[in-house]
Amino acid sequence: MFTDRAPRRPALLADFLKSDQDRTLSLPQDNRIALAAKAVESSLATSSIPPVRYACAELASIVAAFYQVETPEIRVLAVRPLRTWEGGWTMELFGDYDPKTKLIRVWMKTAVRKQVTSFGTFLSTLCHEFCHHLDYERFGFRDTWHTRGFYERTAALYHTARGTPLKCLFWIKMPGGRWRIDWQRTRRGF
Ligand SMILES: [Zn+2]
Repeated sequence: MFTDRAPRRPALLADFLKSDQDRTLSLPQDNRIALAAKAVESSLATSSIPPVRYACAELASIVAAFYQVETPEIRVLAVRPLRTWEGGWTMELFGDYDPKTKLIRVWMKTAVRKQVTSFGTFLSTLCHEFCHHLDYERFGFRDTWHTRGFYERTAALYHTARGTPLKCLFWIKMPGGRWRIDWQRTRRGF
């Protein structure tokens, strides 16, 4: 997992740095998010889109109410599309977010075997896309980047939803001002 490069436009740089440095996300002290996430988990077991969409929309509205932002629309789709990149390698699309329409799309089946994705992966995608929404709607950034702060906010939301203890993320500096997660240290916790 790599962070994005800093934007070239000076007007955007301040937002980028704020996104990188804002490492914490305020979270509710009760289990309202975890309960709504449990309903998403049960809905996935049905392998059918309408109940999954309903549970995701409930979760999104609870999280949005806590942050006092507009609830994003959620669209749940079946099989993940494959994107082909230059050089011929392909990647599955797990989810995306459009800031203009405030629409989050998540795919619930894997591209090749067309099986329902694991709950952990699905929830993590949902939290990731929701954090893009928060970047615009709560923090007022003019763009949304995958910064260290972004990944830490996403992880905080994910662990709260999953009801698992929050992990501190450790980073390794890469050339070009980018960072990647040091999974070994992150797993060890120090
Ligand atoms: Zn993203």
